[in-house]
Amino acid sequence: MTAIIIILLAVLGAALGSFFNVLIYRLPRKESIIFPASHCAECGKAIPAYLNIPIFSYIMLGGKCKYCQARIHWHHLLVEIITPLILIGIFLQYGLFNLVFLKYATLAMFMIPIFFIDAFHQIIPHKLSIPLIPLGLLFAFLPGGDVGFVEALIAAGIIFAFLVFLAYAYRFARKADGIGGGDIWLLTGIAGFFGLLSMPYVILIAAVLGIIYFLIFVRDKSQGFAFGTFISFTAVAWALLGASRIMDILSFM
Ligand SMILES: [Zn+2]
Repeated sequence: MTAIIIILLAVLGAALGSFFNVLIYRLPRKESIIFPASHCAECGKAIPAYLNIPIFSYIMLGGKCKYCQARIHWHHLLVEIITPLILIGIFLQYGLFNLVFLKYATLAMFMIPIFFIDAFHQIIPHKLSIPLIPLGLLFAFLPGGDVGFVEALIAAGIIFAFLVFLAYAYRFARKADGIGGGDIWLLTGIAGFFGLLSMPYVILIAAVLGIIYFLIFVRDKSQGFAFGTFISFTAVAWALLGASRIMDILSFM
């Protein structure tokens, strides 16, 4: 049974990953998600269905367009591989037939396109961040969740108010934007999923990872800082490690 579920999640994940690649390319360019159908970004030729099979097509074509030989960015392959792996990881942590699996699978599926779009473009599309807020509250409202509705509501409210305050304070002190609106929507949404007590850890880990990356890899210090990339990475890691279970362990220490 477990093997069958893993195979099904692998297929579903690869297909979702293929869809996320469309989002990652089109959302920051403000293109329609639905029309036109998949096409080469370079020569515009439509990609026939038999060349649109996740993972296999990329490997078969050697990462190049069949018509114009333009390189297809490596993130296409990476997204189609990590999406099924994350789905399977969440299944192994929570099981399949329960609300918590659905909840963290949903959260992770939003985090994957946000991770790449923010990394490549330094923006977090509102179409991906804002829906997280009602979704998190909905999962908290339904029976069988790991975070209660009132806690989720308070968590989202406090994180939102705290970040808005921080953003204004930073702008007042430095005369520049430190925290973007996208980061605020994203963290408010995540707060509804994880609840209040997880959020200081999630924000702190994301900030530390981001600062380490910035200090080691970013040469041009004036370059934008993609905090959303580190937030979404940390949120997926937190969900994979068992979210509320980590808090149970921490509360014993
Ligand atoms: Zn082409």
